[in-house]
Amino acid sequence: MTQLITKSAKELNKLFLSKELSAKEITEAFFSHIEQVDPKIDALNLVTKDLAYGQAEELDRKIASGEKLGPLAGVPIVVKDILCVQGLPATCSSRILENFVAPYESTATAKLWDAGAICLAKSNLDEFAMGSSTENSAFKTTKNPWNLNMVPGGSSGGSAAAVASLEAPVSLGTDTGGSVKQPAGLCGVIGLKPTYGRVSRYGLIAFASSLDQIGPFSRTVYDLALVLQHISGYDPKDSTSINIDVPNYINLKPDAIKGKKIGLIKELMGDGIQKEVKSSVEDSAKVLKDLGAEVVEVSMPKIKYGVPVYYIIATAEASSNLARYDGVKYGFRAGGVEDILSLYTKTREEGFGQEVKRRIMLGTFVLSSGYYDAYYKKAQQVRRLVTQEFLNSFEHVDLLLSPISPTTAFAIGSKIEDPLAMYLADIATIPPNLAGLPAISLPCGFDSKGLPIGLQLIAPALGEELLLNVAHAFELKSKDMNKVPELAMA
Ligand code: GLN
Repeated sequence: MTQLITKSAKELNKLFLSKELSAKEITEAFFSHIEQVDPKIDALNLVTKDLAYGQAEELDRKIASGEKLGPLAGVPIVVKDILCVQGLPATCSSRILENFVAPYESTATAKLWDAGAICLAKSNLDEFAMGSSTENSAFKTTKNPWNLNMVPGGSSGGSAAAVASLEAPVSLGTDTGGSVKQPAGLCGVIGLKPTYGRVSRYGLIAFASSLDQIGPFSRTVYDLALVLQHISGYDPKDSTSINIDVPNYINLKPDAIKGKKIGLIKELMGDGIQKEVKSSVEDSAKVLKDLGAEVVEVSMPKIKYGVPVYYIIATAEASSNLARYDGVKYGFRAGGVEDILSLYTKTREEGFGQEVKRRIMLGTFVLSSGYYDAYYKKAQQVRRLVTQEFLNSFEHVDLLLSPISPTTAFAIGSKIEDPLAMYLADIATIPPNLAGLPAISLPCGFDSKGLPIGLQLIAPALGEELLLNVAHAFELKSKDMNKVPELAMA
C-alpha cells in the first residue's frame, strides 16, 4: 500500500493503462492512506468517496472495453474547496458557504474529469483564500506534514499538505497573492501559478478577480506539467481567459536551460530573509549555473511596493465580490432577524470570520468616495509601475529568481494576532501576481529544523514552458526535491 501512494501521477497512469492496477484499487489505496494521515494534518474538508468510486468504475469500464485513455486517466487529485465541483459542497472554509452545494462545474475540474482524473477530496483553505497559514479556515487549522506544530502556509495549505503527505500525487490550489507558491514552499512540494488568463477562472469562487488564478501542486515537475496541460486554455465562459494555443508542456526539455540568463532579485535577498533560506537560494543559483544558465543580480526597487499595493487592490475587489453573501441568495442565513437590513448585517456578522471582515472593511474604505483617488487609484498606478519593472527586467534576463518566502514554516498561532507580519509572508510571491506573470515554487533545501525551503522562478507572460523546462533541469540535479515527510510513510 505504502508503495502505491508514493507513486507519481505519471507512474499511476502507467500502472492503470497497462492494467496492472484498476482505478478502483488506486482509489482504495489513497482513501485508506487518507484515513490514517488526515486526522493528523487536517488537510481535507471533505472526502468525496461516492464521486471517486463512481469515476473509478467508469474508468475501469472504459479500459475493459478497449477505449483509448490519456495520460491523466486513473490519477487521483485533491481540489481546493473554493472550486465548484458540481453536486459537492464548495465552502471556501467559511461558515457563510458551509451549506452551499455547487450547482455547476468549474472549467478546470471539468477538464480534469474528462481526462480521467479521480476526485478524492476538497481541501481546507484560509477562509475565501485570505491568509498565508490556513489558520483563517472557519473549520480547522491544517498542519504542516513536516512538523505538526507549524503552519503549512496558505491559503491553499490543505492542497499543499495533501500532496506533501502523499494523500494524492497532485492537487489544485488557487493563487491570488501567493497561495499556491507559498504553501508549496513551506510544505516542500512544487507549485505553479500560471499566467493570468492561462487557466479559466470559471467556477472559481472569486476573491480578487484581477489576480486569482488556479494552479497545480505536485511532487515532480512532469506531474505539474501534466495537470497544467489539461487545465489550461481558452474558455468563452471567462472573459479574461487568453485565446492563445496551449504549448506542449509535458514534453519536458531540460536542455532549454543552457544559455538562459537568470536574474537573482537583490531586494528579495536582503534584510528579513532567514539566513538558511538565503544560502539555500544561493546554492540553487550555483546549481542553475552548473546546468548551463548564467545567473546575474538584478535590482528591482519597486518590489517593495508589492505588499501595500496588493492589500489595497485585493481588498477592494474582495469587498465587491463578497457583497453577494447577504443571506438571500446563497448559503447561510442568520435567524432571529427583524427586517431586511438586520438580515444582511446579522448574516454577515455571523457568517464571516475576522480576517474576511477586516478585508471587507479595508476594501470598502479604499473604494469610498474621498479616499478612492488616494488609495485605490494610486495603488493601480503603482501596480502599473511594478509591472513595468518586470517588463524592463525581462529585457535583460529570461527568468527571475528569489526565495519563495522570507522564512520557512512558522509556528501555528505565532502570527495570527499580527496581520501585518502575516501579510509579509507573501513579500516575494505577490509582485509577479500584480503583473499577471507565471511563477513556480521549487523545493530547494531544508533548514536546521528540518523544514523545507522553497525557491521562486518567475517568467514573462506565457513563459510556463520555460519555467517547467528549467524546473525539470533543476529537479534532475536536486537531492531535496522529491523528499517525503516521515509522517506520510508511517
Ligand atoms: N496570503 C495572501 C492573502 O492573504 C494571498 C492569498 C492568496 O493568494 N489567495 O491575501
